[in-house]
Amino acid sequence: MTERKRFWIIKCPRCQTYQIADSRNKSKTCSQCSRRFEILELAILTSAKDAREARAIVAELKMPRTTASEPKVI
Ligand SMILES: [Zn+2]
Repeated sequence: MTERKRFWIIKCPRCQTYQIADSRNKSKTCSQCSRRFEILELAILTSAKDAREARAIVAELKMPRTTASEPKVI
């Protein structure tokens, strides 16, 4: 298997918005605040094999966690 993950999930250093970066690119401009940054200087949170998977991951990251705060009704 030589399949490589092509998309990286990173966070904008200025506004902390999740961004999908193509791993072939060196830099990216934030869709939220228009800040331009070098992808390799940032921590890569996770990676995805295609844009669809990357978007699904970002959607999940944005989702608030309900497990800790929601009390269970027994
Ligand atoms: Zn930003």
